Amino acid sequence: MPTRWGARWRQARTMLDQFCFPRVCAGCDALLTDRDRGLVCGPCWARLPRLPVPQCARCGHPRSATARAGTTCPGCPLLAPYVRAARSLCWVPHPVSSGILAALKYDGWLGVADGMGERMARLSWPPDVIAERAALVPVPLAATKQRERGFNQAERLASTVAARWGIPVVTGVTRTRVTETQTRLTPGERLANVRRAFAVVPADLPRLAGQHVILVDDVLTTGATLNACAGALFAVGVRTVSYLTFGRARTAADH
Ligand SMILES: [Zn+2]
Ligand SMILES: [Zn+2]
Repeated sequence: MPTRWGARWRQARTMLDQFCFPRVCAGCDALLTDRDRGLVCGPCWARLPRLPVPQCARCGHPRSATARAGTTCPGCPLLAPYVRAARSLCWVPHPVSSGILAALKYDGWLGVADGMGERMARLSWPPDVIAERAALVPVPLAATKQRERGFNQAERLASTVAARWGIPVVTGVTRTRVTETQTRLTPGERLANVRRAFAVVPADLPRLAGQHVILVDDVLTTGATLNACAGALFAVGVRTVSYLTFGRARTAADH
């Protein structure tokens, strides 16, 4: 019975692989089982600190009780005026979301991008964004960082979302100069750091001009990087820009 022996052989190979190369969860380091698709365990996906609803229709920021009573949204001021909408899956930092991001960015566990992108693709948007979105543009890494890492995590996320939305990923934007790493900068310093740091790829212009473009990044913190990219796109004739990120940092109003 060759098929039975084939199945037994495959089963033995799987067991041997799991013994020699055990898969561990990117969020909690627990050993993964056959039931866990990708590189994050089920309990970690369940513990992911998703942005709660209701959310601001434009910036996707959770509306607190005070905002519902009529005060301004804490997320909208982060977006440049010409940005239509923004959506993020979960809060950062948090042990689970930060662990997943670190696995993607620093450990090179690219398989984790699929589970992230699958959940990002299911976020809800205003109907006009769904009807108009024409391309996903990943926020570019600095050339040196891209060489070091060998990939751009924003591009990986954009690709997994693109496959589900049925629209293309277009490189669109490049870095024109090296910027300091943003992590230790104040919001004002971040803005100065990234201003004029991006340029639109001329060859991609025909695919982007007059379109509604979704910029993709791993995290939305102050919005400085995304706004600088959006500014570059807007300046060359992109009609509308929206943002999609995996993580979002809390603002002072969220604490
Ligand atoms: Zn886990
Ligand atoms: Zn808002």
